[in-house]
Amino acid sequence: MSRVFNFSAGPAALPEAVLTRARDEMLDWGGSGMSVMEMSHRSKAFIAVAEKAETDLRELLRIPDHYKVLFLQGGATLQFSAVALNLADPDSVVDYAVTGSWSKKALTEARRFTAANAALNMPESGSPWGPVPAVDDWALSDNAAYLHYCANETIAGIEFPFVPESGDVPIVSDMSSTLLSRPLDVARFGMIYAGAQKNIGPAGLTIVIIREDLLGRARATTPTLLDYEVMAKSGSMSNTPPTFAWYMAGLVFEWLKDNGGLEVMARRNSDKAGKLYAAIDSSQFYANPVHPDCRSWMNVPFTLADNALDAAFLTAAEDRGLCNLKGHRSVGGMRASIYNAMPEAGVEALVEFMAEFEKRHG
Ligand code: PMP
Repeated sequence: MSRVFNFSAGPAALPEAVLTRARDEMLDWGGSGMSVMEMSHRSKAFIAVAEKAETDLRELLRIPDHYKVLFLQGGATLQFSAVALNLADPDSVVDYAVTGSWSKKALTEARRFTAANAALNMPESGSPWGPVPAVDDWALSDNAAYLHYCANETIAGIEFPFVPESGDVPIVSDMSSTLLSRPLDVARFGMIYAGAQKNIGPAGLTIVIIREDLLGRARATTPTLLDYEVMAKSGSMSNTPPTFAWYMAGLVFEWLKDNGGLEVMARRNSDKAGKLYAAIDSSQFYANPVHPDCRSWMNVPFTLADNALDAAFLTAAEDRGLCNLKGHRSVGGMRASIYNAMPEAGVEALVEFMAEFEKRHG
């Protein structure tokens, strides 16, 4: 068996220790004689798995008691609709900060349900790569039902360098590609959501963290399973939850705790990203256009001086076990996603390979 360094943006690499443990427990979880995949979601054994995962996530993120944690399906994209259906009426106004493709998609979906205002539109401003303008310069609405932003734009590699100050307006954040990369002050948010398949676990699970006073506001036509209050009251078990993905996320949370928690992750992630950006910036051959104030720790896109070399770069990288470096189809070039599960050795191997490739082709 040989494992590669997998730089995929998501579904992404999982910690090897988590995969090994899942393998060891695959046929017989905790003496139950069955796999977690085969258990009823109502069984004592699965309830124990589910509760432990929630407890560990709460501990890692220090989630205050007046927040609910939901384990849902449908990906972050379904939350683009659920947020509007739960927190806005047809005649509400909601504000969106658009910093890239994902926040733009979230805005477009919200507009199907309510009046959604682009309070900030960075891609259409003169400086699409940042810095992110201060909130004072945004076109905020009066009485917005919420303010939505994407904490980390996975495609362009733009990470919000601050939590917007919004007074009483609840902040909703898509943290799909940054949740668990560092400590977070959950109390600043009305709601946080994230698809699991980057820093949390396998695809099929979506985490929602929501302040309790925001429950019970869904409009009457909201599909039952998209109603946060219904899901909160049923412990995310109004129907069959994604049991195996929930279990795997629980193993990731345990791994994070065993490895020192989010302070340690933050230091590691900052070091890894720092090394990669330093390699890009010190070269005449590689480039990253994002303003240093809002460069992502998790997704590092870069281009080669001549894009005719892209295919050769990818093939040579793959030969070295450095996989999935192709940039998103909408932007081209390369993208190295370096979530928690990417070891420092993976980033070092990439930096070394990049220097060699530049020497040969630069
Ligand atoms: N938001 C962000 C920031 C993402 O990176 C992604 C997926 N790459 C999505 C939303 C959509 O997630 P999903 O595929 O889980 O719906």
